[in-house]
Amino acid sequence: MENITASEIAGLGVGTFLLCATIAAPKVDSFISSSQRSSLKMCNRCGDVKLIACKKCKGSGAVKPGGLFGLSNPMEDLFPGRFESNEGSISCVNCGAKGHFPCPQCYQSSSSSSEQ
Ligand SMILES: [Zn+2]
Ligand SMILES: [Zn+2]
Repeated sequence: MENITASEIAGLGVGTFLLCATIAAPKVDSFISSSQRSSLKMCNRCGDVKLIACKKCKGSGAVKPGGLFGLSNPMEDLFPGRFESNEGSISCVNCGAKGHFPCPQCYQSSSSSSEQ
């Protein structure tokens, strides 16, 4: 323990802060954008894009074999895309390799006026 210098401790603190900021930023961003969307009367789920990105493959349409069994790399959740490679990835069965679904909220509101 006596080998740890003050600058190393400071570096550790900065690293932890940056990690926390990286995790918190998307949540804050999604909160702001969702409140903006509702104020603009846009769909708060897809932002009137009518599509929702597949959570399983994160919109890429392909998943790593390990991901199917819930054994995805936790670092991949923190830094999506950083560890991605096409090697060994297979088509996502959750979305049919499209990477997105039609927005259920928009689908519901558009079909509610029709017979179906
Ligand atoms: Zn998918
Ligand atoms: Zn929508």
